[in-house]
Amino acid sequence: MIPFNKPFLVGKEIKYIEESVLSGKISGNGLFTKKCQTFFEEKFGFKKALLTTSCTDALEMTAMLMDIKPGDEVIVPSYTFVSSALAYVRQGAKIVFADSRTDHPGIDERSVEELITSKTKAIVVVHYAGVAVEMDIIMQIANKHSLLVVEDAAQSIDSYYNGRPLGSIGHFGVFSFHETKNIISGEGGLLTINDDRFIDRAEVIWEKGTNRSAFFKGEVNKYGWVDTGSSFLPSELIAAFLFAQLEQLKEIQDKRKLLWKTYYNGLIELENNNKLKLAVIPSGATNNAHMFYLVTKDLEQRDAIIKFLKNNNIHAVFHYLSLHKSSFHTKDLKDIQDLPNADLYTDCLVRLPMFYDLELDEVHEIINVINGFFK
Ligand SMILES: *Cc1c(COP(=O)(O)O)cnc(C)c1O
Repeated sequence: MIPFNKPFLVGKEIKYIEESVLSGKISGNGLFTKKCQTFFEEKFGFKKALLTTSCTDALEMTAMLMDIKPGDEVIVPSYTFVSSALAYVRQGAKIVFADSRTDHPGIDERSVEELITSKTKAIVVVHYAGVAVEMDIIMQIANKHSLLVVEDAAQSIDSYYNGRPLGSIGHFGVFSFHETKNIISGEGGLLTINDDRFIDRAEVIWEKGTNRSAFFKGEVNKYGWVDTGSSFLPSELIAAFLFAQLEQLKEIQDKRKLLWKTYYNGLIELENNNKLKLAVIPSGATNNAHMFYLVTKDLEQRDAIIKFLKNNNIHAVFHYLSLHKSSFHTKDLKDIQDLPNADLYTDCLVRLPMFYDLELDEVHEIINVINGFFK
């Protein structure tokens, strides 16, 4: 069976984990955490980078930093992972869902302004498959209405919008190093803060509501409980693993891009013959090869392709069930929003195997099976 995903080692992961243990400190905010954070700040120009134990945690930190309260509204795309909405629901926010674009699963930027009310606090965008949404338009709308913007860049490491790194454009960015992402540490995440107003408080929230970070920097002479927060920082073992992957970022990205291009060249004829659709990369956006997906003509065809691949020992998957129709969101609702493009991707999108150790031969085999399906 060719799996859908497989964790991988690319360099010094085990060596660095050993080093961190031998250094005598494996709790959080140590040497490897600092190395990772400095790497992100220097390579991508994030004003402040804080490692977290997951992207979900980083999203929860943004909810605390934005002081989301019951009655506030947050605009979130429906076609995304649960965490993009859940982080704000936990603080009592009402989620107003936005639709995807027709040509792309990312948020339809033209649909956002009409969702804004006097209660709206923030807009969350998701750079689906690492492909940028129209950030200039989103930031214009946000500035006009004094809203904060969170970029859910969970899938978007090393991807760009008009030359600017994703996660550096909104007030906040969040990344994931879950084992299914480009750069992995099992579970793991990153919060980026691009607006100075939030940096000091973010460090407090990160360290269980204490000013411990300021204490270690010598800015205060004792530390105590000063604000809300939680234990958001990962162990040094995680940071050590992550840093080894970051050192090989280019190698990882080059391999994934090669796999992506091979899939694309092998399947483009099916798109040209109107059998299926492949990803659209808008001008101004880059492709970080996070994901290779197909869009089928309907749900039956999608299920049939996944079954056909499975019978040929290839594990392909679908995802997301639109959040605006989830049982959790709809349980007290009278009206369900009408978001046809979110529903389209819920029904018709298939993800093909994509991971660092996938072989080109295996990609060719998958291409042959898919071409066989349409014969
Ligand atoms: C993976 C993912 C998350 C969640 O990341 P975790 O690190 O598992 O919490 C959130 N949003 C999107 C868009 C994702 O792809």
